[in-house]
Amino acid sequence: MITKISEVIENGLCCNCGACEGICKTDAIELRIDHQKKEYTPVIDETKCNNCNLCYAVCPGHCVNYHELNEFFFKKQPSDVLIGNYLNCYLGYVSDDNVRFNSSSGGLVTGVLIYALDKGIIDGALVTRMSKENPLEPEPFIAKTPEEIMEASQSKYCPVPVCKLLKEILASDYNKLAVVGLPCHIQGIKNAEMINKVFREKIVLNIGIFCSHNDNFWQTTSLLDRWGIKPGEVHEIHYRGEGWPGNMTVKLKNGEKKSIPYSRALSQHVLWINAIHRCLFCPDLTAELSDMSFGDPWIPEIMENETKGQSLVVCRTKKAEKILSEALSDGYIHLSNLSSEMVKKSGYMMESKKKDIKVRLLIRRLFGKKLPEYKTPLQRPGFKNYLRAIFVYFQVVLSSKRSLQGFMVKLSLLETKLLGGK
Ligand SMILES: Cc1cc2nc3c(=O)[nH]c(=O)nc-3n(C[C@H](O)[C@H](O)[C@H](O)COP(=O)(O)OP(=O)(O)OC[C@H]3O[C@@H](n4cnc5c(N)ncnc54)[C@H](O)[C@@H]3O)c2cc1C
Repeated sequence: MITKISEVIENGLCCNCGACEGICKTDAIELRIDHQKKEYTPVIDETKCNNCNLCYAVCPGHCVNYHELNEFFFKKQPSDVLIGNYLNCYLGYVSDDNVRFNSSSGGLVTGVLIYALDKGIIDGALVTRMSKENPLEPEPFIAKTPEEIMEASQSKYCPVPVCKLLKEILASDYNKLAVVGLPCHIQGIKNAEMINKVFREKIVLNIGIFCSHNDNFWQTTSLLDRWGIKPGEVHEIHYRGEGWPGNMTVKLKNGEKKSIPYSRALSQHVLWINAIHRCLFCPDLTAELSDMSFGDPWIPEIMENETKGQSLVVCRTKKAEKILSEALSDGYIHLSNLSSEMVKKSGYMMESKKKDIKVRLLIRRLFGKKLPEYKTPLQRPGFKNYLRAIFVYFQVVLSSKRSLQGFMVKLSLLETKLLGGK
């Protein structure tokens, strides 16, 4: 069992969420980019550390106690193993065409946040934009205006330490905040809410983003490399936007603009070649601990001719249900009902997260490595899950050796062809 944050780091289980830095009262931890691993890593200043172990308590890298968290926040265990506790599922999009065009899917996250801000349900939202000073680095921040919320729309396929802003939340005058994050961010936030009621009071809405896995910084730089772009030449990067599924766009300092379709730009993302190592062991695709979570509807029968974009919604709490229905009746968003079965049709990853993970944990144990703990039901893996889990595990491990990357891309394409994929 892992007992302190330094062991999380040593065991390669840091998910880059930033909760350890955000909770630390003595500023003894700082997330810095490790240029070897191309991920963030928490750097601990032992002279400032008072051994309170709060960093360990909030860290989702070593443990997510779904049983306890579900009981505490939802007052029940989920009846649906794949998507967690939920009340209703929807498909929808933001009414503002401009917001929709510039978002990842249907712009619902941005639309719901703007509605909540306009109506005084929140006084700010913790969201993420790309930094102006370092355009290839993300910048989580608290947005206070609709313009700032819009500036943060679109998915960022790079590590983002959202939870390091827990510190700012605690110190700020904000009393009604929304937080937007990937499943690991929401886990870190919920862990913090469990141990400190000030977070529970100040954070009134947790918005989750579906996530099969996230990529390290190498993913972006290797893509730029293929286009012949040096990182220093980049003025602005957009991983999504320009309709659905959209384009990845890079604006250069010399004024040039390069753009390629999402499907081509992110083919490597789908292949796990540059995945953050900890993502291998995450069982949560739909941000099960959030109030509502949003994803891309990869459902051919619905999205075949879609070019403007729609977002999938899993609504989990009454509070979220009320916000969605009021935003709908006030004309901010469009929504239609969707069965949970259709949500589950959106990509094989939802099921594989609950099955392949079991195999990956087994492989990890075989190598004598410490395991993250989850108190959540995982499903019994089948033959296909074993094969895929082994492929993906070795893909991630071997592709950390850059010289093997070309070979790994070919192997991954073969895996996708044989076993299916997004
Ligand atoms: C790394 C990653 C992996 C994903 N994997 C899947 C998947 O497997 N299946 C699926 O259906 N959907 C996945 N998504 C979600 C999808 O890309 C859209 O984000 C989602 O559908 C919401 O779209 P939207 O148009 O409603 O959001 P928008 O209106 O565009 O708003 C997006 C919001 O997400 C926040 N955000 C963006 N990137 C990050 C990040 N990296 N960390 C924290 N916050 C962020 C932004 O600040 C913004 O508020 C993934 C997203 C990311 C970032």
